[in-house]
Amino acid sequence: MSTNAKNASAASISRLTNASRVVVKIGSALLTDAETGKLNRPWLQAFVEDVAAMRARGQEMLIVSSGAIALGRRALKLAPGKLKLEESQAAAAIGQISLAHAFQEILSAYGRNCAQILLTLDDTEERRRYLNARSTLNTLLKLGAVPVINENDTVATTEIRYGDNDRLAARVASMISADCLVLLSDIDGLYTAHPSEPGAKHLFEVNEITPEIEAMAGDAASEMSRGGMKTKVAAARIAVESGCHMAIGNGRTPHPLRALEEGARCTWFTAHNTPVAARKRWISGGLKTLGTLTIDDGAVHALGQGRSLLPTGVTGVEGTFDRGDAVSVLDAQGREIARGLSAYSSSDAALLKGHNSSEIETLLGFSGRAEMIHRDDLVVKL
Ligand code: GLU
Repeated sequence: MSTNAKNASAASISRLTNASRVVVKIGSALLTDAETGKLNRPWLQAFVEDVAAMRARGQEMLIVSSGAIALGRRALKLAPGKLKLEESQAAAAIGQISLAHAFQEILSAYGRNCAQILLTLDDTEERRRYLNARSTLNTLLKLGAVPVINENDTVATTEIRYGDNDRLAARVASMISADCLVLLSDIDGLYTAHPSEPGAKHLFEVNEITPEIEAMAGDAASEMSRGGMKTKVAAARIAVESGCHMAIGNGRTPHPLRALEEGARCTWFTAHNTPVAARKRWISGGLKTLGTLTIDDGAVHALGQGRSLLPTGVTGVEGTFDRGDAVSVLDAQGREIARGLSAYSSSDAALLKGHNSSEIETLLGFSGRAEMIHRDDLVVKL
């Protein structure tokens, strides 16, 4: 290996080993035995061992796992071939239980709590729900648990579903500001043409997702997994725009994450920003503000020190906005000093302004968040 190639691979491996938050997506074809349709337990055991080792090193780990439909259809003895929507929903309801159970059993052997999270498209696209899902995931990670995520297939209908876990995993990575996403597949990355074609070349690194790159991703998807290379490239676009590096690696090996750390071939899609910078850019420039919060001098000072905006510092609320919408934050002189995502609607914010966070439950009738705008959702211009 040339020095350059060595440096390149050390640099790319560090995207995985140095990441503080890693999302790993595993496909149905890896989790289930192609012949028997049963859960491939030895593989899962080895995979979870890799996840536990990374968690033990201090990396926060999330798993996006497919396999519910594949396991459920076997339990229901459904005929091979494409399932009707209601059949796949029924299969998912059954398969998800065994899937979650297997993860729980194996993770507990490493002293880790397993948390099941079932998401629909709306949970990651609609800002009010997005804030809820994000804060639950953040709390689970803080408590040392390993979230195991899947699409909520039993309630997701065609028009409101992802349908593939590649894009779901990328949305999750973006939502929680992960710095590395790994899609484990039955192939070791992206090729310039279908790998069976003579002359097809493996791509080690993709620095920009051009139309040519998109054209290289065919449509192929197996009966069990929904995603082909196309959804993986779509996932890469979501990930890198959120400041998250993404790898497509071969999962058909007993310890797939360890193998990547040891230099196994894969394709890296590189992000050119950090997740924090990407998120701040999105909040400050990418969103239309729907209202304003005017704050007192004490709150201006707190914001300048990197703290959250509390209801007590708010002196005025203007505009009509919902929880999760972008608002502009003004000082007493009417100058915009920050932008952020409000944790409360404009009507709730009006009730809370000037009050202590401990009074939230009395004022609103439910116990909401202590912050009006959490510091992670705030871009301060001071
Ligand atoms: N959510 C589906 C399942 O658990 C899988 C979707 C996919 O294969 O990407 O069965």
